[in-house]
Formats: sequence, C-alpha cells, structure tokens
Amino acid sequence: MSKGNKDIKCSFCGSGKQDTLMLIAGLDAHICDKCVAQANQILAEELNVRKTKSTQTFETLLKPIEIKTHLDQYVIGQDQAKKILSVAVYNHYKRLNQKVGKDEVEIEKSNIIMVGETGTGKTLLAKTIARVLNVPFCICDATVLTEAGYVGEDVESILTRLLQAADYDVTAAERGIVYIDEVDKIARKSDNPSITRDVSGEGVQQALLKILEGTIVNVPPQGGRKHPDQKMIAVNTNNILFICGGAFDGIEKKIANRLRTQTVGYKVDKEDLNIDLKNLYKYITPQDLKSFGLIPELIGRLPVITHLNPLDRETLLNILTEPKNSLIKQYKKLFEYENVKLEFEQDVMEFVVDKAMEFKLGARGLRSICEAIMIDAMYETPSGKNTKDLFITLDYATDKFEKSDLKKLKVA
Ligand code: ADP
Repeated sequence: MSKGNKDIKCSFCGSGKQDTLMLIAGLDAHICDKCVAQANQILAEELNVRKTKSTQTFETLLKPIEIKTHLDQYVIGQDQAKKILSVAVYNHYKRLNQKVGKDEVEIEKSNIIMVGETGTGKTLLAKTIARVLNVPFCICDATVLTEAGYVGEDVESILTRLLQAADYDVTAAERGIVYIDEVDKIARKSDNPSITRDVSGEGVQQALLKILEGTIVNVPPQGGRKHPDQKMIAVNTNNILFICGGAFDGIEKKIANRLRTQTVGYKVDKEDLNIDLKNLYKYITPQDLKSFGLIPELIGRLPVITHLNPLDRETLLNILTEPKNSLIKQYKKLFEYENVKLEFEQDVMEFVVDKAMEFKLGARGLRSICEAIMIDAMYETPSGKNTKDLFITLDYATDKFEKSDLKKLKVA
C-alpha cells in the first residue's frame, strides 16, 4: 500500500514533506535535504580527521638522523644505504607538504632503487622505514607482473595491495610506500629488440613508468581479473613512494668493465687503484643499470640509487644478536612463555654463522639453521618434558644440526 504524499516523512529526522525542500526516496526510506547536508558535513569532517591522521606535517616529520637511528635498531650495518634512504624519505615527505605556488620550485619525486645481494636487508630496510613513518606499506614481486592483457598480474595489482594495507583508506594509501622486489627480473632480455614481445620484461617496465611518476590509476579493489564487475577505485600515485630492490646478479661484471674502461687511457687517480673488488656494488651508477637491461625512462624515475654491502661474518654475528627483534632474542622470548630461561654458548652463534656462510644463505639462512637446532627443544618444552632452564652448548647444536635435513642443503 503506497503512502499518501502527506504521510511521507524523513526517516532520519522525522520532518514531514511540507517541512522540507526535498525528500529523496530510497528503497524503504526517505531522506530530507537538511539531513543530506548534515550527513555530508559529518562525512567531510571524518575524512578530514583520517587525512590529518595519515599526514606527516613538516613539524612532526622525523629528521634524517632520527630516521636512521630508528633503522639502526633493526638493521645491522648498511650505513650508506640507511643514510641515503633516510634523506630520500625525508625529502619525499617534505615534498608532500610543499605548497605549490606559481613560482615555487617544485621538488621532484625521489623514488629509490636498492641494489644488493639477496638476503642483505633490502626488504627489511623498506619495511622498517614504513613502520617508522607509520604509513601504509606493501611488498610486491616484480616477477609476477606482466604487461596488461597477458597471463600474470597487471601493474595495477601493486596498488590493490597498497589499498588493502591501508584498509581501503584511499587518502592514506596515496601517501604510502611500495616496495617492488626483484626488479632486476624485469630487465630487458637482450639489447636487440626481438620480434616476439617481451611482456614480462620491457613491457612491465613500460607499464611501471606511469605509476612511478604519478598518475591516477583505476584500481580493482579485490585485485586480479577474477572479479570483472568490481567497482574501480581511483588512486593518485603522485605521492606514493616507490622503493625498488634487486640483486642484479652479474652486474658486478658490468661495473668492473666500466671501471676498467674508465681508467684505461686516462691518468689513473690514486683512488682508482684502491677499487674494492670484493664489493663492486658500491660503484654502481645508473649507466650500469642500463647495461643490465633497465630502460632509461625507468632509471630516470628512480633517481635515488643505493647499494647494500654483502654480509661478512661479523655482520652476520651481529644480526643474530643485536637487532631489537634479533633471532636470539626471539627464541629467548618464546621460551620465556614456558618459564624457561634460554641461554646460548657463544660458540653456538659462531657455529650458526659459519654454517650460514658455508651454505651461502646470507642472513636468511640464520633462521633455518637456528630452527634446526631448536626444533626439538621447542617441541618438548611446552609439554613439560624439559622445563629446566636451557643452555644450548656447541655439542648440542652440532648434534641437532647434523641430524637435520638442512645439512643436505650444502652447496657444492
Ligand atoms: P633482501 O630483501 O635483501 O633479499 P631481506 O631484507 O628480506 O633481504 O632479509 C632477509 C632476512 O635477513 C631479514 O628478515 C632479516 O631477518 C635478515 N637480515 C638481512 N640483512 C639484515 C641486516 N642488515 N640487519 C638485520 N637483519 C638482516
């Protein structure tokens, strides 16, 4: 039975039709012009609060030295990378706060590329930076990306992840940080343009250009092509900071070649004679990235370039014990829950590091080696079979390790 015009009321404030300018009908309710205006105001206020929450103002912005101090708590060594990253991030958020006037100098985006062997802390650095700044952060893998229309993920999927990390708060996501891992895997396969399309290499680089630079992208909130009818969300990538990382296996040769050709035929500087052959990464330039197969346009959009040093024995030892959430501290914490005090003999740490170096697993290997040693204790202790305080000796560690499957991992 339909209501007569007189009986229609605003379902929010109860005003009758005669008291309002307009009543808008919904499925089973009505809303008057005043309530629409009020709802609009509430919405604007709420969005504004969220915006200021996710905004780093210039005053609250951590200074580069402070950012690095935070990083020091979690990441061992890699001082140069930390310094460069702290400055780049600081400048990035400074740029977000600039008021662009007519004659203002416009600060350009400072997307970053980090080059270093796998397991040296690239992801950890990016993750820690995002945590320090309290901005949405996501990690994505460049290897799964393909040019639009091909099997694989479109580059837009990167932004879907960021949106999800920001709980679909678009304003927050638009100031977030994206870490693109394994960017070296999308290098151009060869210098000669081939007849077949390079859809997972150069094609992806081309597709990345736009979002790195800053553009409005329509992002499928659920990602992928499985939900064709989903409503797209427009995301402006202008203020999103992109950090790319990759091992760039074999780039040392290109660096060495360049250094050699540079020094041949010129008067050699004293400094040139002191080239650190064990760590050629530190001489990396955009030119080397180009010879590796990144297209110049992409390199141009990643103006901050930094390297990570290979991890030596001492650094690995520090990684095991020093960071705020180091592995050893984590194991101690786990046993604390069982009221068991856990201690390690110093030789055990040395043993773990030796094995990690032997297996060429970098810092990532530390975890699996520790797991192999600790698994039995972690299995038995909660059932009360071993509730006394635990002191892990070298003999115990060696025995557990020798019996584990990990031993088979040894690289020839
Ligand atoms: P990458 O991204 O360079 O391949 P990750 O950052 O993922 O390497 O490092 C793998 C793990 O190794 C990290 O989760 C961390 O536990 C440890 N790690 C690596 N480098 C460092 C470092 N410099 N300081 C502390 N921990 C590190």
